[in-house]
Amino acid sequence: MAPSKRLSTPARTRPNAVGRNRCAGARTSDSSARICFSQAGRRLAFAGALLIACALAIVFASFGCASAANPISSGGEPGNNHDDSILAEGEADRTGALNASQPPLAERANSTPHPDDWSLILVNPWHPLPDGYEPTLVHLEQGFYVDERCAADAAAMMAACRATGLNPFICSAYRSHETQETLFSTNVQRNLAAGLSLEDARKEAGKTVAVPGTSEHQLGLALDIVDFANQNLDESQERTPVQQWLIEHSWEYGFVLRYPIDKSETTGIIYEPWHYRYVGKDAAREMHEEAVCLEDYLAMIGG
Ligand SMILES: [Zn+2]
Repeated sequence: MAPSKRLSTPARTRPNAVGRNRCAGARTSDSSARICFSQAGRRLAFAGALLIACALAIVFASFGCASAANPISSGGEPGNNHDDSILAEGEADRTGALNASQPPLAERANSTPHPDDWSLILVNPWHPLPDGYEPTLVHLEQGFYVDERCAADAAAMMAACRATGLNPFICSAYRSHETQETLFSTNVQRNLAAGLSLEDARKEAGKTVAVPGTSEHQLGLALDIVDFANQNLDESQERTPVQQWLIEHSWEYGFVLRYPIDKSETTGIIYEPWHYRYVGKDAAREMHEEAVCLEDYLAMIGG
């Protein structure tokens, strides 16, 4: 019995064991179920966590991209996108305003000077110098003086022209009222000697030498520049290398050919491919681009 007992014990124990096993199995099974349940729960939790992680990753990626875009779009200053948008809206507004009404040149270009700017002072046969106008003069070269406000640009232009191997030569710059008077009266005397009446002599003289008080040379803002190899003040100047360089580049230094060939009616002065007037770099550029003389330009900008 003992053995059976022993047997039974194992038998008892076997079921127990089996039971244990079963139980174990059951437990295993139960526990599997619990494990399955808990595994399912964990999987759910894991899936949930994964979803949350994905969502966070997407959100992070979105912000990450936005943050990464900042340094590119705003020069390394995060948070400037808004400013960029405002800037873009401003650009759009300006473009819209520009297209809508086509305002005059003065409003279109921020760089357009005011018509009352000193550099745009108009002196021609119909607009004499203001009474008592006296520019502050500075020596330019070869005994010639100019308004000190245009001296640096004038010197730069002459230097740039010479740097190309050319030989520009200044033959007139600032003139006092007395000098202009002398030039004019000499011309009148020559015409009188040629047989013209005083009235005609003065009229003819006025075509080539401005009546005193109406010469831009009295402003100190005008230069007569010729090619050293051809110092004749006539239309042959336009064919000289110096003149061709000046006609092409003078605007870059704030000067314009003041009396173009097709503007005599407007300027009151014959074609002078040697007389350059300082108007400032912005005005010179616009006059060059628009191919207008000073009278036309002042009309364009509301002067
Ligand atoms: Zn001149």
